[in-house]
Amino acid sequence: MNEEDELSAAHYLRGQQQARFKTQVDAFAQARKGNSDMVLAHLSGFLAKPADALVALENALASADSVGEFDEPLSHTVVTRLCLQIEGAAAKLEMPLHSGVSASSIMQGGFEAMQQRVMMTNASVVMLTPSLLLLCNRVGKLIARSSVIGVKGDQAEIAHDIESFRMAIQRDPKLLEDWMQLFYDSAYDADNPSPGRLYGLSGEGLYVWSLVRDAMELFAVGHEYGHHIAQHTLGGEISSGGEERARQHAKEMEADLLGAVLSGHAGADDKVPNTYAMSGAGAVILLIVLEYSRRARHVLLKGVEQEITRNTHPPLEVRLATIDAAIDSVAPEAAKEGFRELRARFIEMLGEVWEHAKRAIVMMHERGVRPVKQDVGWLPDQR
Ligand SMILES: [Zn+2]
Repeated sequence: MNEEDELSAAHYLRGQQQARFKTQVDAFAQARKGNSDMVLAHLSGFLAKPADALVALENALASADSVGEFDEPLSHTVVTRLCLQIEGAAAKLEMPLHSGVSASSIMQGGFEAMQQRVMMTNASVVMLTPSLLLLCNRVGKLIARSSVIGVKGDQAEIAHDIESFRMAIQRDPKLLEDWMQLFYDSAYDADNPSPGRLYGLSGEGLYVWSLVRDAMELFAVGHEYGHHIAQHTLGGEISSGGEERARQHAKEMEADLLGAVLSGHAGADDKVPNTYAMSGAGAVILLIVLEYSRRARHVLLKGVEQEITRNTHPPLEVRLATIDAAIDSVAPEAAKEGFRELRARFIEMLGEVWEHAKRAIVMMHERGVRPVKQDVGWLPDQR
């Protein structure tokens, strides 16, 4: 097969996977025609002002010529834009994209991103769930609200240190509650977490939100491109054997490394250089929020915290160390220190948020609340 045929095979395989969720895609299309509350709620999660939802959808539909039968148009447009940015970075870094990637969203539940190598080809399918994109949006908003943002001249001065976070909690009584709700929602129903309270942001908050969101999303997509570039074949070989586990973990570390480098470059090339992407902060935020979301579920189930061991992925601290190494290897000398500090601030802030959230979830457990589905098998995922 030539490259074009291989990419066509990837498009076909992607459609087949997405078709398994045709009912959800159809429900979305039906509801869209009726401007239903369900669709508005879904769309609003992506936007700064819920009122913009329908306009944004129209724009997405008008601008995306590649929206396929099984694509949810808004998240498809987001994924397409992210892929263009990552592919641009890969081209600049002279990383091979082989026969190419067919990418979109998939209406599956949970916070998932996946890459699948198309058999017998050098092409891949990359898909993200709308829940993962909504999570990046929600966390971006929370981080914007958790920061102290001032203006000096025509420049925004943004502080993400722990003191600023504590000040923000004092100032905004709903902030801590919204953070705790984030972890509670994924603890309660990991497959279909509630998108949370809808609210708008204004001024400089919008700026921080969009940059943090983009940095998280770029890393998610960059990680999957990392698997593609390194020509990994994932899944189908998961076993609990130590050697196999080590091999899986090594692949994930390679994808994290490439993902951090690719998203960092993509962020630097953005219209507004994205410091959260360049510094690896977006990667760190995403990995920590996903880890705490898994732990939150365990806390609601058992009443105690436990680090989640997975055969597929190395533990959080190993992944964070990989991000450190990746950014240190590519960042300009003068920026390294600042980038490291920015990552450290988010680790500290999210650690404090998690302590609050954990206490609230333990209380819910003591009141008898349990996750919707209790048979948590920690199935292998390809995040
Ligand atoms: Zn992976």
